[in-house]
Order: sequence, then C-alpha cells, then structure tokens
Amino acid sequence: MDQDLIRIYKEIGISENVAAYGERVLAGLRERFAQMDAIAEVNQAKVLLAMQKNRVSSECFAGSSGYGYGDVGRDTLERVYADVFHTEEALVRPQITCGTHALALALSANLRPGDELLSPVGRPYDTLEEVIGIRPSRGSLAEYGVTYREAELLPDGRFDYEKIQSSINGKTRLVTIQRSKGYASRPSFSPEEIGELIAFIKGIKPDVICMVDNCYGEFVRLSEPSDFGADLLVGSLIKNPGGGLSRCGGYLAGTRECIENAAVRLTSPGLGKEVGASLGMSREMYQGLFLAPTVVASAEKTALFAAAVYEDLGFPVYPSGKAQRNDIIQAVELGSREALCAFCEGIQAASPVEGFVKPEPWDMPGYGDQVIMAAGAFVSGSSIELSADGPLRPPYNVYFQGGLTFYHGKLGILSSLQKLLDAGCVSPEALAQQI
Ligand SMILES: *Cc1c(COP(=O)(O)O)cnc(C)c1O
Repeated sequence: MDQDLIRIYKEIGISENVAAYGERVLAGLRERFAQMDAIAEVNQAKVLLAMQKNRVSSECFAGSSGYGYGDVGRDTLERVYADVFHTEEALVRPQITCGTHALALALSANLRPGDELLSPVGRPYDTLEEVIGIRPSRGSLAEYGVTYREAELLPDGRFDYEKIQSSINGKTRLVTIQRSKGYASRPSFSPEEIGELIAFIKGIKPDVICMVDNCYGEFVRLSEPSDFGADLLVGSLIKNPGGGLSRCGGYLAGTRECIENAAVRLTSPGLGKEVGASLGMSREMYQGLFLAPTVVASAEKTALFAAAVYEDLGFPVYPSGKAQRNDIIQAVELGSREALCAFCEGIQAASPVEGFVKPEPWDMPGYGDQVIMAAGAFVSGSSIELSADGPLRPPYNVYFQGGLTFYHGKLGILSSLQKLLDAGCVSPEALAQQI
C-alpha cells in the first residue's frame, strides 16, 4: 500500500490496519465503479445538451432583485431542468427552502379539499408526517380537508398491488411515491419499478396525479421516474441536483398543469412563475447542476464503499454491497446507540468544516425521535456533502450519504470505522481477520 497514503491517514487519525482494510475492500469494487462512471458520463452529456439547447449564456448569471420580473437566468434554468428530466415544465427556486417545502408545495398545490392522497409505498419520509397530518400539525393537509391513505409494502419490500388497488377510490387524486428509502430499511426503487407502479395505478384511475419524491435519486441511473410516467418529480437542491454548489432551493419538474398549480401556490394566484428574484444565485444553480452527475457518482461510490466495508465486518447493510443502487443513501444497522454515535463522530471528524465538533443527539424539528447528525459541510445541512444521520431508535441504523469527491468519502468511512474500533464496537481481531 502507498506509504504516502498511510502516512497522511495516520496524521489524520486513521490506523494502518483500517487503511489496509480499506484498500482491500476497494480492490473488489473497481468494476462497479466503472459502471457508475459510465452512467455519469451519459448524464453529463444529458445536462450539457439541455444547457446548450436552451442557449445558456453569461447573461443568465446576472440575477434579479425585487419582483424579479423577466429574470432570464431563472426562466432559462427552469427550461433546462424541464429538459434534463424530460418534462413539460419545471419550477426551480431558491425560495423553495428545502426538500420538505418542495414536497409540501407540490402536495398542497395539487390537492383540493375533499381529495385523498395515497402513498402506495408505505409510510413516507418523517417530515411529511406533519405535512400530511399523520401526526397532527398546524397547517397540515388534514386541516384543509385532504384525507390520506397508505398501502404498506409487502414484507419483502415489493408493492402490494392488491392493497393498492383496494386503496384507490373516487376521492384519490394524487399518489406520492418515495423513490429513496428515507429512514426505513426497505429497498429504494428504480425508475423502472416506479414506472410499473404508475402504470398499474393509472390503469385503475387514469386521471390520478403520480408524484415522485425524487430526493437522493437524481442522476443515479440513466433515466428518471419522469421517463416512466411520473407526472411530477420533487427534490432538494442541497442534495443531488445542486451538485454541492447550490446554497439552497428546491425543484419541481412535471406536467404544465402540476407546475402551474405549484407556481401560483409558491407565489400567488395571478403571479405564478412571473415573480421571484434569483438574487444572484443562478450561477451556482447552473454550475451545480452541471457538476451533479459526477458529484452523484462520487457519492454513490462512497455509499458502495461504505456498504462493502461494513458488510464484510458483519453489519447488516441496506442496500447490500452487491445490489443495484437506486439512490446515494447507505444504511448500516449498527445495533446500538454507542455505535451510531461513534459512526457519526467519525464522519464529523473527517469534515473540512467543523471537523473539531462532536455531534450530539437532539430533538430536530419535524422528526418524531431524537436524531444524531454529522455534517461538516460548506453548505449548512447539505447532504450531498459527506454526512450521516440516524434516529435514536432500534435497530440504530445510520443513514449515510454524500461525498463531493470519492477520496473524501472514502476517508470519512474509514474515519467512522476507526471511531467504532476506538469505542469497542468493532474488535481489532475482527478487523485483522479481514485484511
Ligand atoms: C431529504 C428528504 C426529504 C426532505 O428534505 P429536506 O430538505 O430535509 O426537508 C424528503 N424525502 C426524502 C426521501 C428525503 O431524502
């Protein structure tokens, strides 16, 4: 193994055994990495094509203030997003504050009192519980007379078509499909699988809106759920499509009808997409999107590396290091509070920003259980940057994601393993056996 790497790793607190184990694991992943690079290359061209087709020019980076009337950069970026996702329209704004906001916007804009929302993939992401009103909350959809139903996945993680069919009724107006597993141990879905589900649902009720929570899924595969019938995609710009550069924002991409509904909800009836100053943030949104395919590939390699590192040490990991990936999230079942905290300490210690901080569990707004988070990011809370988090509840899964570069992601994972060793959650003998 490279002596320079051993030396610098040691300086950063990673032992020679941990480093050697990392190299051993990495050697087995080269073929998978090549597949990820091949996807990134196609997606890079897809983004480039959309930018060229829409004649992106330096004028687009100028930004606007006040009402933001006639903001060319904003309007062109929205056409670029629509072309990247092969949809009619898109809404891409720094005023969409986060992924939850983007999803809440998509839902509240496209549902009316008396309508019913259906999740055919079980319980949605934690923060949506309050948006929907599963946990009673001020301003929830439930308060506006929108009812909710869900169909659990089958125990093996497949769609329960019988249950889904019986859940669709005269009131069902919108179906929300979460691509990524979120804080659950189920599989994440491929665009093709989501397409099958959409075809089934539209076969029963053609006019139902099929929305996909695309968080963490963008650019992981060659296609997106909108290539397989989704009416609306929703995501966050401090995740995949922001490429690590967007400082905030969210996007919706979909049918003209769905996007116009969202635009008048975000701003005001009568104003819609015409207003909304970009405040000089357009350049980073373009440049971030341009970098996103390679950044996503780095994050995905990091996730695969994490899966392989922990799987070989006997921890259950989701997805398995052998499985096809559909998002950049890696869950590792750590089994104890101590191990979960140690893992997050390791990630934090490997961060370029606030690497000196020790993460502590806290009552994060929008989440039911205490959550521990490790993130030393250039953009606060950005989870396309190396980050780890997990709710403090059995089986103490850590959800790991991001990595702007694979070299940094790899270092972060090895740092987490070092902390698990230091805390006695992995034995030195178990590690030595694997080298
Ligand atoms: C991150 C995420 C959200 C919420 O996004 P925030 O930006 O944290 O509000 C929703 N759904 C999924 C699947 C996510 O991963």
